Amino acid sequence: MEQAPLIVGAGPTGLSAALFLAGGGVQSRIIDKAPAPSINSRAQVINPRSLELLQQTGVTDAILHEARPIHRVVFYQDWRPLTELEFGHAHPDFPMAVLPQARTEALLADALAVLGVVPERGTALGSFEQDSDGVDAVLISADRSESFRAPIMFAADGAHSKVREALGITLEGSSFPEDWPLYDIELDDPLVPRVPMSALWRAAWCSCFALSPASGGCLAISQSH
Ligand SMILES: Cc1cc2nc3c(=O)[nH]c(=O)nc-3n(C[C@H](O)[C@H](O)[C@H](O)COP(=O)(O)OP(=O)(O)OC[C@H]3O[C@@H](n4cnc5c(N)ncnc54)[C@H](O)[C@@H]3O)c2cc1C
Repeated sequence: MEQAPLIVGAGPTGLSAALFLAGGGVQSRIIDKAPAPSINSRAQVINPRSLELLQQTGVTDAILHEARPIHRVVFYQDWRPLTELEFGHAHPDFPMAVLPQARTEALLADALAVLGVVPERGTALGSFEQDSDGVDAVLISADRSESFRAPIMFAADGAHSKVREALGITLEGSSFPEDWPLYDIELDDPLVPRVPMSALWRAAWCSCFALSPASGGCLAISQSH
């Protein structure tokens, strides 16, 4: 496949980029160093603007078919309701939708496969050099190293981007000083599906989302120390 755009990273950003390109008639080559997609939930909420952007690809319908729309979050402090955050009117057409990131990525990959593009997993960007006409990339997989020339390379390799580092581009934004572990837990007692709960204690903040109607009690907890 010569002269195909190269997309590095098959997370939501890379998959979406490949999908938009394929929808416009451009077949890209998309690689990911991980041998298989992640099975962890990670991002749990898809915001309305993302759904609006993805609508043209058909993925929004697939997401809304599986996801749980949410219209408010209830905050508790010391086991008592403290306040509620309403966002049901954030967008005229689309809700906030709760879906584990692993499922969002699977739906994006399914739509991409229909258009003939399949991520090459277990293939990492080793190094690259760019000139005025394109990029020479070295792609590394378990059994070989390959040189690939692309007219353009799209870096979707995440927060620890090798491409960003090589180009000396810093990751802008701010971060919390403490760790925020996140757990996917199967519960016997289901949560209220459409009302995520956020509980505040003096030393911790714990958010619970009912992730899956089928499991009846799969949730993710973010907790600060
Ligand atoms: C525990 C956790 C919880 C999170 N919770 C939320 C949340 O609640 N809400 C929210 O909005 N966001 C959340 N996030 C962040 C969210 O997961 C990211 O914003 C999202 O994954 C970014 O998508 P991306 O495609 O840009 O990057 P990523 O999903 O990081 O994908 C990058 C991909 O590039 C691949 N890659 C990296 N280097 C190379 C290389 N050299 N060659 C080839 N492939 C490479 C990686 O294997 C990876 O698959 C969470 C993240 C984590 C880890």
